[in-house]
Amino acid sequence: MDNQTLWDIVLADLQINVSKASFQTFLSQTKLLDLNNHTATIGCSQPMLINLIEKRYYSQIKKTLDSYTKTDTLLVFKAISSENKKFNDGPLFKLKPYPEFTPINVYQTLNLNRDYTFDNFAVSSSNQMAYAAATAVAKSPGSSYNPLFLYGGVGVGKTHLMQAIGHAIIANQPNIKIIYCSGEEFTNEIIEAIGNKTTGSFKKKYRRVNALFIDDIQFIAGKNAVQEEFFHTFNAIQQYGGQIIMTSDRPPEEINKLEARLRSRFEGGLTIDIGQPDFELRCAILLIKAKQRKVDLPIEVAKIIAANIENPRKLDGTLVRIITESQTKGVLINQELVKNILGKTMKETPPKYQIKPEEVINIVASFYNLKLTQIKGIRRDRVLALPRQILYYILRSELNIPLVEIGNLLGGRDHTTIMHGVRKITELVGTDEKIHGDIVGIKNRLMG
Ligand code: ADP
Ligand code: MG
Repeated sequence: MDNQTLWDIVLADLQINVSKASFQTFLSQTKLLDLNNHTATIGCSQPMLINLIEKRYYSQIKKTLDSYTKTDTLLVFKAISSENKKFNDGPLFKLKPYPEFTPINVYQTLNLNRDYTFDNFAVSSSNQMAYAAATAVAKSPGSSYNPLFLYGGVGVGKTHLMQAIGHAIIANQPNIKIIYCSGEEFTNEIIEAIGNKTTGSFKKKYRRVNALFIDDIQFIAGKNAVQEEFFHTFNAIQQYGGQIIMTSDRPPEEINKLEARLRSRFEGGLTIDIGQPDFELRCAILLIKAKQRKVDLPIEVAKIIAANIENPRKLDGTLVRIITESQTKGVLINQELVKNILGKTMKETPPKYQIKPEEVINIVASFYNLKLTQIKGIRRDRVLALPRQILYYILRSELNIPLVEIGNLLGGRDHTTIMHGVRKITELVGTDEKIHGDIVGIKNRLMG
């Protein structure tokens, strides 16, 4: 049996045991790249999902695979580049042809936030379904979930996720006509059009798009003329196979003064809620924001912030304060600095989430395919030197362990050796892409 056939069978088995959305989001993104020496290399077309897949499905995948190979297989996950992607999309993603429209340049001026992409969106249990639906819609707008209605509290990532769909659709089909606006902008535009007697051009503009994104749709409730116009816009767009995506702070049935016919339209597609981010998701969001700001934020520091700041909108603000403070004071971003900024009423990282030094040692060793005895041992081969120095660096910068103690942890090394290693990596992190990439990879595993 070749790898592809084997994998198709394994996936078919797994598909029975997981929900449709989970399969679509996670397992269908995988492919068996290699099976040799009791090791299966599994490629994943979405690198950001690797950790999640490994964490959630390792044993399930292994059990299924082992049942066919009749061996005890080790699974290794790796990212695959977009050229060898193979999606098991199925009929969900059949592309519908779009009707020809006369080009109107208003569509070029989309005001999407550059950073609100899928790559920058962290996925966890509170938003996994919404993410799955959003990626499905992005791949083939108008054919899977239509309308897509995302709702949830302030700061849970509705706007971000919705704009990510916009970015992805435009990247796939640059000439597609999209309008992205808030419920408030939509309302203002209609009122203005009525006042200026230009409703004709309003209709032309809105009713002929391939995808309409309305953020915070709850705003139109109670405004009769606006709801009336929106109803017709909605119908016109859907009639031509166009996609409609909306966000709201509450589900359709809880929006007061929303016309019944609109409510039933909203509920005619897929309605998904996004929950408040848990501790782990808040950490992941912080690390993403730090990366965007080109700052190496130690995970332990991210955890302290996440333990203390629950509102996701405040996470980024706090991070900016910390970065500014570290720059003006000329000090590193470390636990002391953050504790000072957060103040005395600070909560400690929940013990469950505190990383232990042994975990770091294990993860660095396995990252470089070294045995524990090799990384802790005394042999001074060149292949061992760099992983060891990276290990010192992570123990120092992430866990804030004193140099002498790091030396003790690693079989009684002298603290000057540790210091030398930490300094060297601190310098290289900013200049050497390979080392930077390795450290990000190791930190991702630590987060897992
Ligand atoms: P909402 O529209 O639901 O009020 P936003 O989309 O404006 O929330 O998100 C608030 C902030 O939190 C933004 O900076 C956004 O990038 C960030 N954010 C929220 N959820 C996530 C996530 N899952 N991954 C990355 N960033 C997120
Ligand atoms: Mg929003």
